[in-house]
Amino acid sequence: RMNHQELLLIFTKPSSAQNTLCSALSRKHNTNVAKNILLFLGDGMGVTTITAARILKGQLQNRSGEETIMNMDTFPFVGLAKVTHSFLKSIPDSAATATAYLCGVKTNLNTVGVSAAARNGVCRSQKGNEVTSILKWAKDAGKSVGIVTTTRVQHATPAASYAHSASRTWYSDADLPTSAVTGGCLDIASQLLRNTDIDVIIGGGRKYMTPKGFPDPEYPTDLSAQGQRKDNRNLVNEWLSLIRRLWWNKTDFDAVDPEKTDYLMEITEKAIRILKKNPKGFFLLVEGGRIDQGHHDSRASMALHEAVALDDAVARGLELTNEEETLTVVTADHSHAFTFNGYPFRGNSILGKSPIFAMDFLPYTTLMYGNGPGIKITDNKRPDIRNVDTTDKDYVQQSAAPLDSETHGGEDVALFARGPMAHLYQGVYEQSYIPHAMAFAACVGTNQEHCWSMILMINIISPHTSSLINHNESIKPAIFVMKTYILISH
Ligand SMILES: [Zn+2]
Repeated sequence: RMNHQELLLIFTKPSSAQNTLCSALSRKHNTNVAKNILLFLGDGMGVTTITAARILKGQLQNRSGEETIMNMDTFPFVGLAKVTHSFLKSIPDSAATATAYLCGVKTNLNTVGVSAAARNGVCRSQKGNEVTSILKWAKDAGKSVGIVTTTRVQHATPAASYAHSASRTWYSDADLPTSAVTGGCLDIASQLLRNTDIDVIIGGGRKYMTPKGFPDPEYPTDLSAQGQRKDNRNLVNEWLSLIRRLWWNKTDFDAVDPEKTDYLMEITEKAIRILKKNPKGFFLLVEGGRIDQGHHDSRASMALHEAVALDDAVARGLELTNEEETLTVVTADHSHAFTFNGYPFRGNSILGKSPIFAMDFLPYTTLMYGNGPGIKITDNKRPDIRNVDTTDKDYVQQSAAPLDSETHGGEDVALFARGPMAHLYQGVYEQSYIPHAMAFAACVGTNQEHCWSMILMINIISPHTSSLINHNESIKPAIFVMKTYILISH
């Protein structure tokens, strides 16, 4: 730990602010075409979570914590994404938000990969209202695509990249209501094989891929891990017959020792190394899915450790790619009812208590929840935590209103960007803007007029040099470019 004198030196000398000014003045817009897109998504990683995770990260390295610089903190362009008005509700869920930041449209709660014309749980309203994602746009442009998640691959966040479902809970065919079966709607697990040819998929969720009662290969005696499909299909075998390689967990995942390595960082590295082989580049979605789970349980320790793990994965992503040709975005789908409060001293454990007691003469933690499972009133009093170790990983922080599961928060989420066209992410915008800017940067999807001359050039020069092509250089008369392209290609 730094002593008071050392801290004073760091925070009071003007040079650190001057350094920040210098780097702000030297910041240039990178107008290259993004060959690769890396999207890091912290499920439920609101700004309070980022601040608290930053302090935890420093404290895990035996420092005071507040002075720590996260990897995402180093990104030159930052904006705020408005997560509200998923239709009907002002605070969204992970399905509606994933459809916004992956497919570019705001939609209804609990629906994935469909527009707001589709209604939650109504199969027939899904038909004709499917929307595609940045993952598919990248694949259609010849890039390799991948999904890496610490949750199930059929979970809302990854699902919106490949599936269209009026309900996020239609994981396997056993979850489909009769009206969905007769209406011809497909479960999310089967859409994973059917819709887009995804090059790398790493995550959990195999029970939705195997027939009912099929024992889990890793936990054969665990009944809750058994297969769930009623149609008797074994999607894992179907997948393998398509000559795909599949990893489902840490133990299957070759060359990864979970005792010694950081799982999310390692799977991110593995995915990037595979996807990088494509000379046309790649799109990769990396989800830190358990930040959300930690917050719902009001276990701040779990949520913050997961956020630190995501930030470590960001570092690995930056190491393995080149900023000149890779657009990297770190953001969240939504926030939580999570607060960092009181007046703790600098260096106080981020999971610790406020030094001053509340009006009920009891201490409170600096991290608390607006609602959640952490409140039990006895004799008109909050629990006394004077002798409780609130830094324990399983400690449940207190909340104001009692709920089984703490809820999401409705405030804007931060977005950090670096690489080609990262400056498009400055300011305040709707979350549905995110994939549109990505597609523009990478010349995939719609809105590509500015790319025509670049497509021509990419065809006549080596893939390696294609990253030197610049959006600004491409502003030429479209007709001319079009003609040239047709001439050359014949
Ligand atoms: Zn959630």
